[in-house]
Amino acid sequence: MKRQRVIFLLLALTALIWSTRLPMTIPADASEPLEEETKFVALTFDDGPRSDTTPRLLDGLRERGASATFFLVGQQLAGNEALVQRMKDEGHQVGNHTWSHVELQGATEATVRTEVGKTDAALTAILGEGEYWVRPPYGLLDSEQQKLFSVPLVHWYVDPQDWKLRNTDADVKAVLSKVQPGDIILMHDTVPASVDAALRIVDALEAKGYQFVTVKELLALYGVTPKAGTMYRSAEVVAEY
Ligand SMILES: [Zn+2]
Repeated sequence: MKRQRVIFLLLALTALIWSTRLPMTIPADASEPLEEETKFVALTFDDGPRSDTTPRLLDGLRERGASATFFLVGQQLAGNEALVQRMKDEGHQVGNHTWSHVELQGATEATVRTEVGKTDAALTAILGEGEYWVRPPYGLLDSEQQKLFSVPLVHWYVDPQDWKLRNTDADVKAVLSKVQPGDIILMHDTVPASVDAALRIVDALEAKGYQFVTVKELLALYGVTPKAGTMYRSAEVVAEY
């Protein structure tokens, strides 16, 4: 008798859970969104650090609880060590954008190794041992060269051409008209108009339920295991050459 009662109670409880859960999956009004689902996106900034523009961006990102990824140029690290440390301390991902922003596509293996290796060593000297993912300048690399890398490579899916436009309104429009969850967005923290644009983009997308994460976090959230030498454009798209 006792066991029967327990089974009955379990069945009743299951029925109660189902009856309360089912209606939640069926919206009262089909035109309403099902629920505020979190959408993840990665903002990436190339060509820094720059002491007169990057700190303002970091302040704005901190105020908004947004994380980003910075691909740094090795020859600009000296004198900006505190800024680079601040990026890491505030939860951003720090990556490698070569030593002198040279185009790697078509370059010799020695050039690739020197340009990437020197920057990796400089980042390690500032931040300690770590995995510093690489974005090749201009996003260009030969498919054979990709095999030289021991870390994942990062391209982008949304490129507002902010370095050329230098216009906050145009940057914001270019990004918001294209961005989808899972995307990697390319911008430059070395351009003052881009810093303003990036913060407006964060405000606009956070209001729509987006959350800004690092590239590494983005791939993990979408269940992607990053591979060395593979170039990622978004959580779903790998760059093909
Ligand atoms: Zn660049």
